Amino acid sequence: MQFYLNGYRPGDPDIHLTDLPDTMDVLIVGTGPAGMLLAAQLAAFPGVATRIVERREGPLQVGQADGVACRTVETFEAFGLSEKLVREAYWVNETVFWRPSPEDRSVIVRTGRVQDTEDGLSEFPHLIVNQARLLSYLEEYMAKSPSRLAPDYGWEFVTLTVETEGEYPVLATLENVRTRARKTVRAKYAVGCDGARSRVRDAIGAVPRGDFANHAWGVVDMLAVTNFPDIRLKAAIQSAEEGNILLIPREGGYMVRLYVDLGEIDPANREAIRAITQEQVIETARRVLHPYTLEVRDVAWFAVYQVGQRVTDRFDDVPADRTGDRLPRVFIAGDACHTHSAKAGQGMNVSLQDGYNLGWKLAAVLNGHAAPDLLRTYTIERHAVAQVLIDFDKEWSKIMASPPRDPEHPERGGVDPEELQTYFTKSGRYTAGVGTHYPPATYLTAPATHQALASGFPIGMRFHSAPVVRLADAKPMQLGHVHRADGAWRIYAFADAAGTRFRELMLYLGENDGSPVRRFTPEGTDIDGVIDVRGIFQQGHRDLKVETLPPLLLPRKGRFGLIDYEKAFSPDLRGGADIFDCRGLDRVAGAMVVVRPDQFVAHVLPLDGYEALGEFFGRFMMAQPRQPLQIDK
Ligand SMILES: Cc1cc2nc3c(=O)[nH]c(=O)nc-3n(C[C@H](O)[C@H](O)[C@H](O)COP(=O)(O)OP(=O)(O)OC[C@H]3O[C@@H](n4cnc5c(N)ncnc54)[C@H](O)[C@@H]3O)c2cc1C
Repeated sequence: MQFYLNGYRPGDPDIHLTDLPDTMDVLIVGTGPAGMLLAAQLAAFPGVATRIVERREGPLQVGQADGVACRTVETFEAFGLSEKLVREAYWVNETVFWRPSPEDRSVIVRTGRVQDTEDGLSEFPHLIVNQARLLSYLEEYMAKSPSRLAPDYGWEFVTLTVETEGEYPVLATLENVRTRARKTVRAKYAVGCDGARSRVRDAIGAVPRGDFANHAWGVVDMLAVTNFPDIRLKAAIQSAEEGNILLIPREGGYMVRLYVDLGEIDPANREAIRAITQEQVIETARRVLHPYTLEVRDVAWFAVYQVGQRVTDRFDDVPADRTGDRLPRVFIAGDACHTHSAKAGQGMNVSLQDGYNLGWKLAAVLNGHAAPDLLRTYTIERHAVAQVLIDFDKEWSKIMASPPRDPEHPERGGVDPEELQTYFTKSGRYTAGVGTHYPPATYLTAPATHQALASGFPIGMRFHSAPVVRLADAKPMQLGHVHRADGAWRIYAFADAAGTRFRELMLYLGENDGSPVRRFTPEGTDIDGVIDVRGIFQQGHRDLKVETLPPLLLPRKGRFGLIDYEKAFSPDLRGGADIFDCRGLDRVAGAMVVVRPDQFVAHVLPLDGYEALGEFFGRFMMAQPRQPLQIDK
């Protein structure tokens, strides 16, 4: 075996740097959470030529973020990856708070213990798993996907320009990190998922705005022996004089991560940051934990993580004064758009959601299902989310970094333990990632005119799953888990008491030429390939017969015209949580809940709201040549 012909490079010599094609549909820069989720989503579409380049010579092995919010696990479920994640991760069930003892402020005492995630918020727990592992799941997924996508490691993005015309208007210059040879590739779209110091962001002239005074934390993943009793619980620990720690137990039962607050650091003085050693950070941790001991046996990862709270002014290449006449061609996602503290565990999670938001939109446009105007909604939706994130993080970091109030010296300020705990509980929905709400600022979020028909599925928020029983095989399951990351929209039709309007809707959707299912599904695509209709009845599954289901709920699919039996559901009456009750569904009138490919509720309509349904999809979807009937009448 011969290697290092063109000079020595560290890393696995078996990793061959692939060459890149001259043209592609989508060029993604960076294999962090934003880039990998986006690539995984696009990998589902073999007709979309995607490449993801990364300047590292191989996958991330260790370190960086580790907090996996409930919403991220829900997202991973759509990729069929939640079970792996749930099995391997540490589950954050409870959080404890430690403060200086009122009797002796030189020692810390436990002052509170709360449930981490409120009951019923999600069917999944809040998890901790290393970013590198999470990314490796996505990489495996991509490798097995219809387009067999694999990252192109060892390619550094240098710059790009966008031409005003042509099929592939984005010209990106990339450099092979081994040979330093440069190559220019052309793409229809490019996405900069290249982190906080994004060069793609610079290339499109977008500017991060906000707080440039960087806050620093020493982060240590360690195997240690301690008599601190809550070492296997997430703990916010504040000492009187020595600073504070966020303790995060890690996957595997032994490892633990300590975030040690190092305060504000001048970002210009990089020497001061580099000079901070692992030993110093561990020593600070020991002092904070006093009177408990901490014997570190092994350090798996150490970093000084310093970041300011910033949001980039726009997330695409269209300046504010050109939004009326130009369509975006280049986007940025993840830390390239927003940076903030690690304390609320949001960095990886929000970045993943950026990728999820953009992925289905790019696929819909490139597959000819939606007009390119859809791509404008990415910046509108995700910029608002980023701003909320930064506002939240400012408040959260301030509270977490404040010294505990000394009852003997209230004039010195600080935060009461109860205040911290109350804020933590109040913020639970947000930190779980389920608080995101897209307002009706774009045509993708309809006004809440008919919200009362399904009050537990708020328009603009993620579809909140609930238990059901699948009719054909009596399988108890979560309704939300029928959602795949396949770019399809879903209409969940909840039956009315009489069942008549429900049946009429099924007939309309399946057979009427004006139905969005028929209008927007291209010939040769299965009837559920663009808009997937599911029916949920009010009766128990034994009170219904499969043979009486409307044909649309037994569609014929695939090469052999096989019947799909997985479209009809009943409430899970044995489990006691009737979906009609727990999601506030109108039993008399029923409801139609329209869900986007990224699991967000876009619309709630009456079962006979045909016109409004058609009008909603008609705003962005492209009519296709007539879809032949694929259902049995
Ligand atoms: C060193 C470090 C430590 C961190 N520690 C923590 C932590 O302890 N806790 C926490 O919650 N969050 C932490 N974060 C933040 C968290 O990892 C990010 O919020 C999250 O990873 C953002 O995802 P992303 O995909 O936007 O960017 P990143 O994960 O930063 O990924 C960007 C990718 O782009 C690649 N790249 C950059 N420039 C180029 C280029 N020119 N050409 C090609 N590829 C390029 C990078 O190598 C990287 O793989 C840390 C981040 C870093 C960088």
